[in-house]
Amino acid sequence: MLTFQRHRTVEELRALCPARGLTMNTDRYDRGGDHVVLSGQINGCAAVILFNTFNGVFWGYFGSELRGETPDFSSGNDRFDDEPWFQNLLRLFYIEKADCPISAVGGRGCEQPDCTCKDDAPGESGEVLEGGAA
Ligand SMILES: [Zn+2]
Repeated sequence: MLTFQRHRTVEELRALCPARGLTMNTDRYDRGGDHVVLSGQINGCAAVILFNTFNGVFWGYFGSELRGETPDFSSGNDRFDDEPWFQNLLRLFYIEKADCPISAVGGRGCEQPDCTCKDDAPGESGEVLEGGAA
């Protein structure tokens, strides 16, 4: 399962979209709204996606139209977690947590602040309690 440290900013998405063949519409955002709308092909399948720039939630529809009904997919639904196109979406909207270069459980000796090894750290903010591992 992919893990992420944060969602991307509008500016980061703006820079990424052209290379991915996606168009980003920021009309709502420019008027003070939370959302941007991305459209284009995701792994060869047309899709329209709303992305909440405030909390990183996204949801979307297959095809080229935003529909007012239940979305076909969303960040809150793990139904497509194993699908390459959905993983591409996740990697578009979120910055992946780095794999630990030294696999130090508890974060000991690891210098990546948002590293996956920190997830199991016993102390706060990645700090390691003394006297733990041998
Ligand atoms: Zn690490």
